[in-house]
Amino acid sequence: INPRRTPLIAGNWKMNLDHLQAIAFVQKLAWSLKDANHDFTAVEVAVFPPFTDIRSVQTLISADKLPLAFGAQDVSAQESGAFTGEISAAFLAKLECQYVIIGHSERRTLHNETDEQVAAKVTAALGQNLVPLICVGETAADLELHGPSAVPVAQLRAALAGVSNAADIVVAYEPVWAIGSGKAATPEQAEQVAAQLRLVLQETLGQDVADKTRILYGGSVKSGNIAAYMREPNVDGALVGGASLDVTEFGNIVRYLK
Ligand code: PGA
Repeated sequence: INPRRTPLIAGNWKMNLDHLQAIAFVQKLAWSLKDANHDFTAVEVAVFPPFTDIRSVQTLISADKLPLAFGAQDVSAQESGAFTGEISAAFLAKLECQYVIIGHSERRTLHNETDEQVAAKVTAALGQNLVPLICVGETAADLELHGPSAVPVAQLRAALAGVSNAADIVVAYEPVWAIGSGKAATPEQAEQVAAQLRLVLQETLGQDVADKTRILYGGSVKSGNIAAYMREPNVDGALVGGASLDVTEFGNIVRYLK
C-alpha cells in the first residue's frame, strides 16, 4: 500500500439494521476495536447504514467521540424540490456524513441507474464536500464477453465525467458475480482491475489524485480472505456487505485477522 493512502474498511449494511440496532452495533464495534487497541489512524473504519439510521449514528459517534466514519448508501442527483422519496447531498452533509456510496451494482441493476445518473450523483456529492465512494464492476456475462477490466474501466470513466482533478473520491471495484455469492475474486484479479482503475484516475484526474485515491475491493470479503487483498499494491481496503453485519467478523476484517 502506498503510504499516501490510509486503508479503508467500509461496511455496507444495505437494507439491514433499524436505528436502534444501529446504535447497539456501532457501540459494540467501537468498543471491541478499542479493546483490541485498533489504530484508527492506520486503518480507517466506516459504516454505511440505511438513511433512517444516520441521525442516530451521527449523534452516537459525535457524543461519544467514536473514531468511526459513516456515510449513506445512495444520494439524489437533484438539489431539492419535487422529488418524492429522494435524499439530497445537502441533507447528508448536514448530518455530517463524510462519504456516500454511489453506483452500487444493486442500484444499477435493481433501480436501472445509468452511468450518466451515477456521474450526476458524484457531482452532487462533491458539491456538498461528501466523498463519493464510486462502485464499479462487471457482471458474469461481462466477464465472459469482455474480460474483467473493460466494464469497470468504462464505468469509472463515465462516473468521473464531471469531476475536477482535486477531487477527494474513493473507488470500489466490486465484480457483480462476487457480491453476496461467496465467490470472491482472487487477489490477483482484484489487483489487476484495481491497477487498470488507477490508470483511469491518472489519465482523467492526474498523477496526484491517482496516487492518493483509495481503491477498494468488494465482493464476498471475509476475515479469512481480507489479508490477501491487502497485500496487493493497488488494493487499499474493502467494501464489505454481508460480513459487515456481524460485529466480531467485521472487527476481524478491520484488523485483517484470519
Ligand atoms: P458482500 O457485498 O460482501 O455481501 O459480497 C459487498 C457489497 O455489495 O458491497
